[in-house]
Amino acid sequence: MRSLLHTVTLDCRPSFVISTASSVGVLGRAHYSSTTEPEWTPTRQYASKSSEIQAQRYATDPKFRAQTQAYMRARYQKNKEEMKARYEENKEERLVYMRKYLKKHPEKAQTTWHRYRSTPNFDQRYNAPRRARYASDHHLRQMSGLRQWVRNNPDWVPGLSWPTHRPIWSDKALHYCIGCKHTRPLKLWWQDKKTDEFMCHPCFTSDWSRALPLDYEDKVFGSKRRTPSRSANESKYDP
Ligand SMILES: [Zn+2]
Repeated sequence: MRSLLHTVTLDCRPSFVISTASSVGVLGRAHYSSTTEPEWTPTRQYASKSSEIQAQRYATDPKFRAQTQAYMRARYQKNKEEMKARYEENKEERLVYMRKYLKKHPEKAQTTWHRYRSTPNFDQRYNAPRRARYASDHHLRQMSGLRQWVRNNPDWVPGLSWPTHRPIWSDKALHYCIGCKHTRPLKLWWQDKKTDEFMCHPCFTSDWSRALPLDYEDKVFGSKRRTPSRSANESKYDP
């Protein structure tokens, strides 16, 4: 960021140099941070005087701010494919490293969580949209219902027979999902019975026709009835 701002200022050097030179000339280098903009006060300790000047200018000069933002947008557009590729390349290593790191420094994970949780209107911003989505999205309810069903009944549900896959529940296993092409540490994986390839829960359940085990095809999670549509079928065949 700092180097970026520095690069941007090269484009608007004349005015920048003049203003700095006159300030330094009048006040002397050591006094520069007593800024010429009375409405701007530094919000943090900057690494150098020049980065403080950049920040002040970014905050108070709309033209400079627009130029900087345009430059950053162009730079992002130019490099985004490369950035994404680099991100994907190191993803697995980084995940393993982060898990180790957070195990070693549990207070770091907690700090992040507390910062997240202490956001103003946390409930309104994060929980309320999730509740609304859960209430209106039938597929989401079925998806999480299936996940809970597998998790809460480890003695018999994983032993049931699914048409194409088998559920694998563990204390987070790193696998590659052939659906979304991501490697992630997950507790629930669905393994293809023929190819042994893995699928994450959202990818597996995106095709609901294979999501329920044999003899439970009509199960509806959250309906409080075990097999609601099966009883409907039975009554249909009654004379
Ligand atoms: Zn997936």
